[in-house]
Amino acid sequence: MTHIVIIGSGFGGLTAVKTLRKLGYRDPITLISPRPVLFYFPSLIWVPAGLRSEEDLTIPLDKFFKRHDVQYHQGNVISLDPNARQVETDNGTVAFDNLIIASGGRFIKKLPGIENAYTPCEGYAQTKAYSDRLAALESGTLAFGFGGNPKEPAAMRGGPIFEFVFGIDTMLRKQKRRDKFDLVFFSPAPEPGKRLGAGAVKKLMLQMQKYNIRTHLGHKMKSFSPDTVHTEGGDIESDLTMFMPGMTGPAWLQKSGLLLSEGGFIKADAQCRVPGFRGIYVAGDSGSFQGPDWLPKQAHIADLQAITAVKNILAEQKEQPAEHQFKTELICIVDTLNSGMLVYRSPKRTMLMPKMVIFNWAKRLFEWYYLRAYR
Ligand SMILES: Cc1cc2nc3c(=O)[nH]c(=O)nc-3n(C[C@H](O)[C@H](O)[C@H](O)COP(=O)(O)OP(=O)(O)OC[C@H]3O[C@@H](n4cnc5c(N)ncnc54)[C@H](O)[C@@H]3O)c2cc1C
Repeated sequence: MTHIVIIGSGFGGLTAVKTLRKLGYRDPITLISPRPVLFYFPSLIWVPAGLRSEEDLTIPLDKFFKRHDVQYHQGNVISLDPNARQVETDNGTVAFDNLIIASGGRFIKKLPGIENAYTPCEGYAQTKAYSDRLAALESGTLAFGFGGNPKEPAAMRGGPIFEFVFGIDTMLRKQKRRDKFDLVFFSPAPEPGKRLGAGAVKKLMLQMQKYNIRTHLGHKMKSFSPDTVHTEGGDIESDLTMFMPGMTGPAWLQKSGLLLSEGGFIKADAQCRVPGFRGIYVAGDSGSFQGPDWLPKQAHIADLQAITAVKNILAEQKEQPAEHQFKTELICIVDTLNSGMLVYRSPKRTMLMPKMVIFNWAKRLFEWYYLRAYR
């Protein structure tokens, strides 16, 4: 009998559970996370318009765990001993034969005055606090931006910021108060969103022009104060600032004994293996994977990597080579609240579909379909 331990009840962790059971693994699975819930980040973009509540996005997992015969260990991982094959949590020690790490990433909040900016991607509370401030404002300048991790260019969360800026523009127009607000988009990158492909960047910038959203691009960030975003290329006055900093790996990795990338993520190969330790795998935002420079940190990729990790663990258990590799692709709908633009990228092609209402519906339908498995 073997014991597989999974860290994280997000996209990667739960897909690993589903895949293990689907592929016939019948031995014990223990899943460790701070709360027995799945938080569905992609629909946070609809919180400012009041289309989603905390309850809509926080899916209790008790039934899912029961159905899949998962032992749930509530706690935060604080360290790992990969040689002794033990995970240390703030609620006790868990031993494993195989380990899948899917404990997400975290934002680098080092810029001076960062507390003056909202980082909605951190969760519901931040997004709701931002939305409430916006609802109470009668007029002013709204600044939206995202940064990167200079040591790991792929570690950024730009897509949702585009969605927030376009979604809030649409919402203000619907509320007939768009003329009271000035919207500014800023980024230290001269071509923000480049990972989506050159065509997509051009299209996004043209959309901003069309909707009268000013841009301030290519200037290194300096700091934030309550009413200003300071950059090396000048200041942006702002009554309300939304900023998504670059990402790094979870803090507990510093005490994991695993090889980390310069950006602070777990180094992994195309098979999702953690080099140097047989049977330890990583999926999703916690990992630094080999792949093209546009390889996204996305829920979709977390799912593909979790499936790959499981297939390779099961192969290893049968003494077969662990040679499954995850598919490198980017699928992204940039939603604008009443419409959306689809971007698809693979090593062979990049596809950009123009803004259409159907993509807004597709995103809503996908949410319903995806969450069905956990409800
Ligand atoms: C606003 C927004 C919109 C997005 N839109 C999209 C989209 O449209 N499409 C898309 O594909 N992706 C989207 N993403 C990205 C996507 O949500 C992430 O890439 C995805 O959540 C990564 O999955 P994960 O399993 O690696 O980590 P997560 O989903 O972050 O899960 C991490 C899990 O680990 C747990 N954990 C954390 N620390 C510890 C610890 N110390 N010990 C134990 N457990 C721990 C957490 O509680 C959580 O359960 C969006 C993200 C945001 C914020």
